[in-house]
This record gives sequence, C-alpha cells and structure tokens, in this order.
Amino acid sequence: MLVDETRLHIAIQKSGRLSDYSRGLLRDAGLKIQNGKNDLTARVDNFPADLMFVRDDDIPIFVSDGVCEFGIVGENVLREFSLGEDSPRFEVVAQLGFGKCTLKIAAPEASPYEGPQSLRGARIATSYPRILQRFLDDNGIDATVVKMNGAVELAPRLQIAAFICDLVSTGATLEANGLRAVETVFTSEAVLVRTRKPMAEAKVDQGAKLLSRIDGVLATKESKYIMLNAPSEALREITDILPGAEAPTILPLHGRPGHFAVHAVCQESVFWETLQKLKDAGASAILVLPIEKMML
Ligand code: ATP
Ligand code: MG
Repeated sequence: MLVDETRLHIAIQKSGRLSDYSRGLLRDAGLKIQNGKNDLTARVDNFPADLMFVRDDDIPIFVSDGVCEFGIVGENVLREFSLGEDSPRFEVVAQLGFGKCTLKIAAPEASPYEGPQSLRGARIATSYPRILQRFLDDNGIDATVVKMNGAVELAPRLQIAAFICDLVSTGATLEANGLRAVETVFTSEAVLVRTRKPMAEAKVDQGAKLLSRIDGVLATKESKYIMLNAPSEALREITDILPGAEAPTILPLHGRPGHFAVHAVCQESVFWETLQKLKDAGASAILVLPIEKMML
C-alpha cells in the first residue's frame, strides 16, 4: 500500500486526545472512513486516501520521511521533534483549533517561586526535554532537565525533581497533584502538516483538494449566513456593522420601494449584541443561518 503513487497517506493519532477530533475533521471534509477501532489503517472509499493510525509521537517522522504526505498532530510534538532536526521536512498548512493546551512549568503549591531565577540549579522533570532546554537557554538559566515519558506530575512527590514541565489544559491535574503553574513555556494546538518531500503529481492534486476542503470546514465553523431587510438609508450603517462580511449581496424587495434584502456571509461569530445593533440601525426580519459547506 505504501508504494501506491495515487493514494494519499494521512497519519492521525490512533487513540488519545486528538483521535476523535482528527477523524471528525476528515469526516466533515467528506472522507468516508471504514474501519474498526483496532485497525492500524483505513481505506477512504470516496477519496484517494488511506489513513494510518499511529502514536502521535511518530507522526512528525512519518510526514518528514514522506511515508505519509499529511498528518494531524499537536504543535508541541512537532516542535519537540523539530528542535532535534537540522531543518524541518514538513510544513504546517492549517491550524485546526482543537487539542489546545499549554506547556507549563509547575511547582509544589507550598514552594516559593520568584520568577525564572528560582529554577536555577533545580531539577525539572518533563516529556519535552528539547522545548524545555530551549526555554532555559533563552532565559539564561542553568538547570537539569530530567526526561520522563509519563506521569511527570509525580516527580516532585517522588523527589525526582523539584519542578515539572508538562502540558496543561484546564489545570485540574496540576491541582489534584498539589502543583501550581509558574511559567508558560509553549502554547499549542493541533495542526495539519504536509511533507516537503516531492510527491507524485496525482498526489499533489489530491493534496490540494484535501486542503481546500479542510480550509472550507474550518471556515464554516465560525461562519454564519445573515439575511435581513433594511431601508436604503440604513444600508451603509448596516453593512459596516456586519462582522467579517465582505461584499454583501443587496437585492430590491418586491413591492416595497426603497427597501432591500441584505445577504452576507459573516466570517466571525454573530452575537446577540450585533443583532441588536443591526436592529437599532434599521434592520428587520434578521435571520442568522449556519453554513453547512463552503469552498473558498
Ligand atoms: P500517544 O499514545 O498517541 O503517544 P499521548 O499519550 O502522547 O498519546 P495524548 O495525551 O492523547 O497523547 O495527547 C495528544 C495531544 O493532545 C498532546 O500532544 C497535545 O497536543 C494535546 N493535548 C491537549 N490537551 C492536553 C492535555 N491537557 N494534556 C496533554 N495533552 C494535551
Ligand atoms: Mg505520545
């Protein structure tokens, strides 16, 4: 299967925090994924692509080597990988908006902390030794990085290290382990990466199609279609209020001279406050509709 010159290979996390979102995104982009939870690969029936279900740590190397043309992975994993490479052999082609988290240094609640200087000479346990080392170097701090592959938050209690540097989303895990965040090292979300290795022409075309669909899915998430009626004198103010709308369509209303329908795609969230402003400006019959698909 891997020598197939016509089918794209897309690496996603097999099971973990990113897997459901990654599958969901590809499904929203119209890819029908046929497989059971335990399969390592899946053929997409209606698009020339095969999915590889792997550990997230393996995704950067697969995409770098061109074994997979695309991958979905956290920026944290990518950066840790890239810091060990001479030049990255992949490029980030979309920020996906899920898997948001922050790599933070945390200390036991009771211990004093007076800024990065407090880390001097200390031992810090982490699964992200390269990102942490870069942070320490950038801040001119000499400290010992202790690499752990998991359960990093136990390190202070086991006296393996005084501090930890780990991923945090809500902070609940830190709190449950009697720790508090003291420094932010790196902010991350899931991204779509594409290999820089040359691809067969058919794959370049399919890759561009996939990317355009994914861009469409991402744009739709925030976008709304707004329809409203307004008298001609209110049109300028109303079109100025519409959030993130380019070139709205303005149509005359049949049988109501001087009144128009305004239709627009808004690329930003539409809040109740915005609707009130539109109404105050003279708009009536305001409808806000979700957009199912979009191709930009
Ligand atoms: P794998 O078995 O694939 O190696 P893993 O245990 O390394 O899985 P997960 O815990 O599933 O990874 O996290 C995958 C990614 O989800 C992380 O690399 C990160 O980008 C993101 N993420 C979002 N929130 C968090 C969080 N609170 N803790 C850890 N990772 C998070
Ligand atoms: Mg992992």
